[in-house]
Amino acid sequence: MPLPDTLGRPIRDLRISVTDRCNFRCTYCMPFDEYTWIDRHEVLTFEELERLARLFLDLGTQKIRLTGGEPLVRSNLDELIGRLSRLDSNLDLSLTTNGALLAAQAGALYAAGLRRINVSIDTLKPDRFKEMTKRGNLDEVLAGLFQAKKIGLSPVKINAVIIRGVNDDEILDLVDFARTNGFEMRFIEYMDVGNANAWSLDKTVTKKEILEIVHARFPVREIGRAHGSAPAVDYEFLDGAGEIGIIGSVTEPFCASCTRVRLTADGKLVTCLFAESGFDLKAVLRGGAGDQEIQEKIAAIWTGRADRYSDLRWERLSSGAGYRPRDHKKIEMITLGG
Ligand code: SAM
Ligand code: SF4
Ligand code: SF4
Repeated sequence: MPLPDTLGRPIRDLRISVTDRCNFRCTYCMPFDEYTWIDRHEVLTFEELERLARLFLDLGTQKIRLTGGEPLVRSNLDELIGRLSRLDSNLDLSLTTNGALLAAQAGALYAAGLRRINVSIDTLKPDRFKEMTKRGNLDEVLAGLFQAKKIGLSPVKINAVIIRGVNDDEILDLVDFARTNGFEMRFIEYMDVGNANAWSLDKTVTKKEILEIVHARFPVREIGRAHGSAPAVDYEFLDGAGEIGIIGSVTEPFCASCTRVRLTADGKLVTCLFAESGFDLKAVLRGGAGDQEIQEKIAAIWTGRADRYSDLRWERLSSGAGYRPRDHKKIEMITLGG
């Protein structure tokens, strides 16, 4: 097994946040206009990212997802896609985007080697879309979504965070839209990421609730988690019209199979989405360390990893012990990537 942590979890997936900037201000993610942005000189270059990615692959990582902030606001992202896809022909490379700049970039991303993509769309109502993203335009995002499909990206998945009283009336509309147009819907339980959103458990529409709503209208059968460790539990429609995934991050945590490591745009290595801090890998990298030294640092951090934040949160929530998100200072989602 490649590099087990203290709970026996291998280092399989690397999520790279290529920028902390975003052209949206989703209410559940980064609701404020201004943040303390990472200085441009602190952001890892494509050369640095390529080198680190190669070292992670040597350690057993098989999947890389590019995220942010909004990854498509990073200039020439296709160049990075090209560099990463050339590292290993078997690499499972993907990208999560809000889709606003996708129509213009889908062709270049595909030509550089990207084959699959996740586009975040929480609502199909233009006014609500504007309210939830503050700066987004639904038509532009839908144009990007369809362009991604036309260009040959497959699968094109749609990520939707479902928040009670905000967009929970659109679960079936989103499923219907995805089924009709050949996309794969992925619902995500609303989480208390970062420190800026106003999360409370009652706003989380649970995986069980989402499944019941979908199943009553479009019957499904459970397939399971991809590779046994993916965050989403996948279901196939009994009528053969594709699949959906539901990520029960809060109420059905999957820490026991969490093989994900994260790299922030300024090169911090973070072993959990809810971590308070990360290890400054950039300092090691820019300090002139050789490949072996960098790998030893990564290996030491991973093998010492004991993170299971969502398991512990659910233990407290479900036992009535109480859980106050603000008692835990976390790295913002925009810095970490989803
Ligand atoms: N900007 C890109 C996007 O929106 O797709 C990539 C970064 S975003 C942080 C990655 C994913 O995290 C998105 O699908 C987003 O919906 C999800 N996300 C953000 N805040 C969340 C929250 N509080 N709970 C659950 N998912 C969240
Ligand atoms: Fe930006 Fe994505 Fe966060 Fe929305 S979810 S604010 S698009 S990083
Ligand atoms: Fe992995 Fe941390 Fe999420 Fe658990 S809470 S699944 S350890 S990222």
